[in-house]
Parts: sequence; C-alpha cells; structure tokens
Amino acid sequence: MVDVVIVGGGICGCSLLYELSRYDVQAVLLEKENDVSVGTTKANSAIVHAGYDPHPGTKMARYNVEGNALVKELCEKLDVPYQQIGSLVLAFDEEQDALVRELCARGEKNGVPGLRVLSATELQELEPNVSREATSALLAPTAGIVSPWELAIALAETAVKNGARVELNSEVTSIEKTEGGFRVTAGGRVTETRFVVNAAGVWSDRVNDMANPHAFTVSPNRGEYYLLDKSSGDLVHHVIFQCPSKVGKGVLVSPTVHGNLIVGPNAEDAEKGDLGTTAAGLAFVRQAAARSVPAVNFRDSIRNFAGLRALTEIDDFIVGETEQKGFFNIAGIKSPGLTSAPAIARDVVRMLGEAGLPLREKDSFCDERHVVRIRHLSHEERAKKMAENPLYGQIVCRCETITEGEIVDALHSPLPPCSIDGVKRRCGSGMGRCQGGFCGPRVQEIIARELGVPQQDVMQDRAGTAVILGETKKGGRAE
Ligand SMILES: Cc1cc2nc3c(=O)[nH]c(=O)nc-3n(C[C@H](O)[C@H](O)[C@H](O)COP(=O)(O)OP(=O)(O)OC[C@H]3O[C@@H](n4cnc5c(N)ncnc54)[C@H](O)[C@@H]3O)c2cc1C
Repeated sequence: MVDVVIVGGGICGCSLLYELSRYDVQAVLLEKENDVSVGTTKANSAIVHAGYDPHPGTKMARYNVEGNALVKELCEKLDVPYQQIGSLVLAFDEEQDALVRELCARGEKNGVPGLRVLSATELQELEPNVSREATSALLAPTAGIVSPWELAIALAETAVKNGARVELNSEVTSIEKTEGGFRVTAGGRVTETRFVVNAAGVWSDRVNDMANPHAFTVSPNRGEYYLLDKSSGDLVHHVIFQCPSKVGKGVLVSPTVHGNLIVGPNAEDAEKGDLGTTAAGLAFVRQAAARSVPAVNFRDSIRNFAGLRALTEIDDFIVGETEQKGFFNIAGIKSPGLTSAPAIARDVVRMLGEAGLPLREKDSFCDERHVVRIRHLSHEERAKKMAENPLYGQIVCRCETITEGEIVDALHSPLPPCSIDGVKRRCGSGMGRCQGGFCGPRVQEIIARELGVPQQDVMQDRAGTAVILGETKKGGRAE
C-alpha cells in the first residue's frame, strides 16, 4: 500500500510529486506515455505570467501570483532555463487603453508587484520593433519565460532522487474504492493507495469519473504556434501580448529561453489528442502577430506545433478533494497552469495533510540539481570538462552545440529518456535549424548503446513512432 498515487506526469503531477518527496510519504506518479511533460506541458507559450489577468478572488489569481515567485525560485535551485524578461500588453484604441488600465488595477488587487501603464512613447523606447499603432501598454516586470518541459523533468527527477517513484507507460484504466483507500489499475498492474490525485490534463474528466459522479467535462481548445530560428530571437526583449479575451491571452510574440522567437497561439475548439496545426490557424496567427510586431519574418520559421487548453464549464481551476474522500482533482488547468503548478502542488499537499496524510519532513531532502551545458561555458571551462570526460568534446548536435557527454549524462539521470525526443527535451539536441535531421540517427545510436537496447527499438518520441522499420539491404559488406 502506498500513500499517494498521482495520475499524470505533466507540470501539475510533477510539481506535486516533488513537493511530496520532501516528506516521509510513499508517492507514485503514473504516466501513460513513455516520458513526463509530453501533454500540454510541452506545448504552450512557456510564459511565467505575472498574474494581472485572472479575476481577484479566484484560485487562478492566487496560484498564479504565488506560482510566479515559486517558478523563479525552483528554476534557480534545479538549474532550469528561466529569464525574468517582463511582459507588455499592448492597446490599440481607447477601448483597449481602458482595458489595459483595468488589467493594471486587477493585477494590483491580485498582489502583482511593479505594474505600470506606459504611454506610446515609453513603449517605443522600450521596444522599438513594436507597432507604432500601439497607443499604450501594461508593463509587468515580474513576468518571465521558462523551459516548461525542463521544469517538469527537473521536478520529477528531484522527486525520484528523494525516493518518489515514476511509472511510465502506465495508463490508469480503473480506480476502485476500497476500505483503506483506492485500488488503481495502470498498465496491467494494480497499486493500492490511501489517496489519489488526478492531474491528467485534458483527460482529467475521464479520470475523475473513474471514482466519482461526473462533475465536469474538459472541452479542449487548441492553440497553434510558430517557432522561429535564433536569427529572429532578439526582435523583441519582452513578452509582447495583445489584450486578452474570454478564450485566451491573445497572440503573443516572445523570445524563448533557448534564444528563438515564439509566435502564437490562436484558439479553436478541438478534440482530445488533436494536435495537428492547420493552414487557417497559422494564417490567423501570422496576421494577428503582425499587428503587434510587424517585422516578424515568418520565413525564419523552423517548426509549428499546437497545444490543448483544458477548458471546462467551470471558469476557474478545479483543485481539491471530491465527494469521494481521499480523491483529489487538479483539473481544468488551463493557462496560467504552468505558472501556477508549484503553488497548486503546495496547496494540495496541505489539503492531503488535513485529510490525514502524515507530513513528516525528511532529514535528508536533496533540493538541488546541476546540468552540464557545454555551450554556455567559457573556453577554459570547456577544456576542463573535456579533460574530465572526453565525450564533452564530441559535438553531436551541430546546430545547438550539444555534446555526447551531455546526452550520456541525461541517459544516466534519475529519470532517463528512452526516445530521441526525450533526449531533445533534456539536452536540446535537435532543437536547432535542422530540427534533428543530422543528429537524430547519432542520438538514436547513443541511446541504444547506453540503455543496452536494439537501435530499432529506440523511438522518435512516443510508442509507435519508429524511425527504423527494417533492413533495406541484406547480405555482407563489401570487403
Ligand atoms: C496554447 C496554450 C498556451 C499556454 N500558455 C501558457 C503559458 O504561457 N503560461 C502558463 O502558465 N500556462 C500556459 N498554458 C497552460 C499550461 O500549459 C497548462 O495549464 C499545463 O501545462 C497543464 O499541465 P497539466 O499537468 O495539468 O497537464 P498535462 O501537461 O497535459 O499533463 C497531463 C498528463 O496526464 C497524462 N495522462 C492522461 N490520462 C492519463 C491516464 N489515464 N493515466 C496516466 N496518465 C494520464 C498525460 O499523458 C499527460 O502527460 C497554456 C496552454 C495552452 C494549451
């Protein structure tokens, strides 16, 4: 019998596992895919929102503002790419000028520090590439950018280092109430647990219904993006938003922590699992972005992708214990869920404590993590690393300067990847202009060697994404 089963390894599940691993608690995270962070957590705008958008008094407002500070702290501790670059919400007419002032007042009520409404002239001085048609803007200095998947991985790895368990390829298919808690079936195995926390993203309604009466329905809403090459990465230096609407925060233009430019998203109703981009959706993104930053050069695009917002009929996050005692939901976590997750996790730990989970802090909680990133080191530091391990001198991904040593480090980390994209999420190989065209086969070889599996069993990403399907030539090699 374990204490807590968490269903879902997105940013919410991983944050909770990390928080629980501070205590003498047996916690298990069950994830249906072959890695954590591969749901909505890997496909969003990657903004650490300041917290002026949610309405005061909502869970969203509280968790957003608390989460904004926590994400920064966690990224520093766990060596995750993060930059506090600040955000700007642009207004283009008198009605939007008023909305910008309203957002400022709302943010102040939510406790967001440093908010300021800028005139058109101040805005141009700060961001010369923003449209001259903008009439005012809200500056939020505490907004930031982060690598969302690296944050989730770092939290899960740290939890595993501290004794928590992550079971991948474990889709939860049933949850039965028992006398002492719940019997959870996942991937054909059964786990008995005292508490269950549902953090299953767009599937959280289905998981809720396994143990509760139907209470909410997730109606996914798709957002599509352009990711531009690093040559466009310094077009703007803040996150540039437009005024928010009911469905989302509008189309943004922002640098990423990896040095690219991200542009998007639109907002369209979609089916669960429908992650395709569309010509119409991308055309909308291009047109809307040009209104804020006319000089965006879409010919620099290296990738399109889409993510699914977990919208429900409830206009707030769904966080708390259900009628079924011992079962908790972290559901309907739309934006700003990435920012809010660490604060939600702390609150759910408190709720679990109130529900009877003993919370004794461990004497030896290891709360640090270091990642070698050769591209960020000076020549002297690189030379030192290469002397320690010659694999740090072997460049595998030429676009991003990622070495074999970094890939091998990831493959021997507390939560090792098993696919080419799993390595990409941890090291950045394949994230550059060629999108893995050159390094992909080499990364696949290294994964096979280090994990001791046949190369053809190493997938591009999730199960079913085989790269090698069979031999093309039989027979011996020419001598
Ligand atoms: C277009 C878009 C832009 C956004 N931009 C931002 C932003 O800039 N800033 C911000 O703060 N937030 C943003 N968000 C919101 C943020 O991305 C999400 O709130 C957050 O990623 C949700 O995390 P999660 O852990 O709840 O869900 P997910 O990341 O989807 O994780 C759920 C996990 O549960 C697993 N799972 C599902 N069913 C089962 C099962 N039966 N058994 C086992 N595992 C299961 C899934 O495989 C998945 O890994 C954005 C969202 C979208 C869609």
